[in-house]
Amino acid sequence: MADPFPLEPSLWAATAVAPPQTSPLVTSVSTEIVVIGGGYAGLSTALHLAERGFKPIVLEAREVGFGGSGRNGGQVIPGLKYDPDELIAKFGRERGERLTAFGGGTADAVFGLIDKYAMDVPYVRNGWIQGAHTPEGLEQVRRRAEQWGRRGVQVRVLDESEAGRLLGSRRYVGGWIDGRGGGIQPLSYARELARAAQAAGATIHTQSPAISIAQNSGRWTVRTASGATATADRVVLCTNGYTRGLWPRLHETIIPANSFQIATAPLPEDLRRSILPEGHVSSDTRKLLLYFRLDHTGRLLMGGRGPFREPKGPEDWAHLERIVGKLFPKVKDVPVEFRWCGRVAITRDFLPHLHEPAPGLLIDIGCQGRGVGMQTAMGQAMANYIATGDAEVLPVPLSPIRPLPLHALHKLYVSAVIAWYRLNDGGL
Ligand SMILES: Cc1cc2nc3c(=O)[nH]c(=O)nc-3n(C[C@H](O)[C@H](O)[C@H](O)COP(=O)(O)OP(=O)(O)OC[C@H]3O[C@@H](n4cnc5c(N)ncnc54)[C@H](O)[C@@H]3O)c2cc1C
Repeated sequence: MADPFPLEPSLWAATAVAPPQTSPLVTSVSTEIVVIGGGYAGLSTALHLAERGFKPIVLEAREVGFGGSGRNGGQVIPGLKYDPDELIAKFGRERGERLTAFGGGTADAVFGLIDKYAMDVPYVRNGWIQGAHTPEGLEQVRRRAEQWGRRGVQVRVLDESEAGRLLGSRRYVGGWIDGRGGGIQPLSYARELARAAQAAGATIHTQSPAISIAQNSGRWTVRTASGATATADRVVLCTNGYTRGLWPRLHETIIPANSFQIATAPLPEDLRRSILPEGHVSSDTRKLLLYFRLDHTGRLLMGGRGPFREPKGPEDWAHLERIVGKLFPKVKDVPVEFRWCGRVAITRDFLPHLHEPAPGLLIDIGCQGRGVGMQTAMGQAMANYIATGDAEVLPVPLSPIRPLPLHALHKLYVSAVIAWYRLNDGGL
């Protein structure tokens, strides 16, 4: 069957560092820990486990960074979907502050690893601008900036004219800058994470889809499509938006939504200097948020939601091309050279979920579309948990698997919500 999500046409696949040396699992092995999924979560877990002296084996169905980790916008944005005050209201002061600190540290986790392992990953760290598309959005970002500012974070609220200048678009009424954010080449980062994990002692098997997990006499056996198995004391499952039937009803706990992106040809110098001239990355306050940035070669990238179904042709990205024309009229005639998409996992409460449905099986799911930093930091936390056995080191509590009610109808529901927001969410 044709792959509905080929990695090839993406800008990142065309410009990334070479993939790490890996091979499929063809001979059955016995080990301590198996990690399923070769995205940021799985690779960061493996790297941090290996740093602690474990010898994890990663099983990836396709290739390193095949999922969201090789397809994303490369915006490294700290924080979770909730603001610090909301987290405290939801979880109480102690856990709320802990979750806030976790979210606040996620960008540092990425840039810290890039630096520590001298990764070959083009990056900028000049801050993330969240543009406000309405006065209500501006109030929201003012509150957000105030809460992070109180915690010592370098933030700045932007009025309409400053937002216009720094974004290069007149479509925003203001915004805020979070100085912790930045941008990376996301597929290079996934591949370099894999290389770092291998150098530290992890083994990575690509083209090795896990097809079943079973527990027997206290050990776990993961069977792969080739028939070879990996038997281990522990399994960590990190398949996020690409989760299918490996564990009963797990896929029913998320909505696997598509995010779509385009990249133009490199912009002429004058245009390049007028859009995000100070090297920020940006997303906005829309419910179906738009995210945009320049890459290191001066291409404009624009991303947002697309159809819920798999894409059929360039017309499925046409809305993003129209949006580029509206936000940046002078870019209208610059050709689009890349169109691609990938899946993110959305949970009912818009928070990442950690489950341990049986001793020795740890599951991380639900990146909410902001996982570059979060899944890197989550991998570090999961490795810490495995090494210490202390669940308090995890940012969110271990919770039971709770399928979404009427999950089978989610495609209809999400399509309706997308259509509604397209009409009512800021008119682009
Ligand atoms: C288009 C797009 C734009 C985005 N933009 C941003 C952004 O700018 N900033 C940001 O922070 N986040 C962004 N995200 C979200 C971010 O990419 C994800 O949150 C993050 O990559 C999730 O990492 P992960 O390791 O949890 O999952 P993934 O990277 O999705 O990895 C899951 C892996 O599991 C593998 N797998 C699945 N089933 C099996 C199996 N049975 N056996 C073995 N392997 C299996 C898959 O092949 C895949 O490689 C974006 C996502 C998309 C799709």
